[in-house]
Amino acid sequence: MKPAHSHIMVVDGSAVSREIVARILANVIEGARIDSFASGEEALQALEQGQYNLVTTSLMLPDMDGLDLCRRLRRSSQGHHYTPVVVISGDADSRLLKEGFAAGVTDYFDKSLGYPAFGAFIQDFCQRNSGLVGRVLYVEDSRTAAMVTIRLMEKHGLRVTHVTSAEQALARIQRLREEGDSEEEGFDIVVSDFHLKDEMTGGDLLHAIRTRYHFSRQELPLLMITGNDDIRTQIEAFHAGANDFVNKPLVEEIVMARLRSLLLIKQQYDALQRQTHKMEKVATTDSLTGVRNRHYMRERGDSILAESRGGPFWVLIIDIDHFKQINDTLGHLLGDHVLAAMGSLLNRYFPDGVVVRFGGEEFAVLLPTVARVDLVRRAESLRQASEDLLPEGVHFTVSMGIAGTDDHPDADLNRLLQLADLALYHSKNTGRNRISITPSEAEPEPVGQSIPVA
Ligand code: GH3
Ligand code: MG
Ligand code: MG
Ligand code: MG
Repeated sequence: MKPAHSHIMVVDGSAVSREIVARILANVIEGARIDSFASGEEALQALEQGQYNLVTTSLMLPDMDGLDLCRRLRRSSQGHHYTPVVVISGDADSRLLKEGFAAGVTDYFDKSLGYPAFGAFIQDFCQRNSGLVGRVLYVEDSRTAAMVTIRLMEKHGLRVTHVTSAEQALARIQRLREEGDSEEEGFDIVVSDFHLKDEMTGGDLLHAIRTRYHFSRQELPLLMITGNDDIRTQIEAFHAGANDFVNKPLVEEIVMARLRSLLLIKQQYDALQRQTHKMEKVATTDSLTGVRNRHYMRERGDSILAESRGGPFWVLIIDIDHFKQINDTLGHLLGDHVLAAMGSLLNRYFPDGVVVRFGGEEFAVLLPTVARVDLVRRAESLRQASEDLLPEGVHFTVSMGIAGTDDHPDADLNRLLQLADLALYHSKNTGRNRISITPSEAEPEPVGQSIPVA
């Protein structure tokens, strides 16, 4: 499962139990290396020598109590402060509840539930206790302080980008706003020293993140590093939108606990965003053809036109010729197939536009920025490609009507759709399988003008 749980120690006095536990762990945790020990002393010796990502122990060992093993492991100087310890006990011992916390037990499993349940328990446990995942933008002007903290964060699995001033941090954050969050460029959290040598303080950085770039506390959490007796700064930082603070000198357990809970907030925010986008996409996409539905055009159409800001903007209506005949002779299912093939062809043809299912066998494309000559070339290429598509061997053609702000600079989207529709009728009336554009003098008597089709 998680490489973070790949080296595992199993401690149990019974050879049979050790064997069963080890086998379950090997099944559940992919690529796990498992060392088994029959006594507490043997286990402690091994812990002196190597790192383990997970320790399981029975409550009663031949030479000591499982809780004692846990206490001694937590006190050892070998860096086992975080190693998760799972106690496997024969009964849900009340002692574990009373003393387990103080002894440093991470969790316990009631063996009476049976070993199959242990597999599910461990799987769930690994998910709950997985290593930290995240990208940190770390602002610290002292290079010596930075070195220690970077090592600490990286040890826990975080990816750290270190900058020495708020100005540098802001440059990175501006890029984030402009270019969006990518796996290489993005950050999940900002950790910033309040006192910085350059002009801007950590407080100024925080203020800019929240007010100039509008990152919420959930979208980009910030952990402020403040001085120990610096209550005013701590209060100010909260007002300015810090999620939390830690005091210098940093205490590993506290920094990591704060980072863990802030990263959880960020991860939940991201998951919610992904979910929302997915649902929006589903709600605005036509399920048969994969293009946008009319609802989307109603909601977004006007602003898409507005965003073209007086540059070229075209509306194309594409209607399949004699589609009713395809349904009637080949069946509705094959008709659906033709529509789906046409939808994906259009999506491929207009990655720079918005393709909408406008009616049953009628599509509209909103296409900004394209110059007239290119538009005509692309429309003709699409007409030919439709004829060559032959989904399930079905031959069909399309007629098109086009209108644009080139000829009708003051038209709104509704008007452009009307004009494109008139052009479409012209294509239909003059023989189908062709393209028409409403001419520039169209206003009172709009009549489409045929473009000669090769
Ligand atoms: P024209 O060349 O004049 O456009 O003729 P046409 O037959 O394509 O046009 P008409 O408007 O007469 O018929 C459109 C047909 O499209 C009628 C309708 O049953 C069919 N249709 C609409 N939506 C769907 C659909 O989702 N699937 C299938 N298979 N057919 C559909
Ligand atoms: Mg029709
Ligand atoms: Mg038709
Ligand atoms: Mg139609």
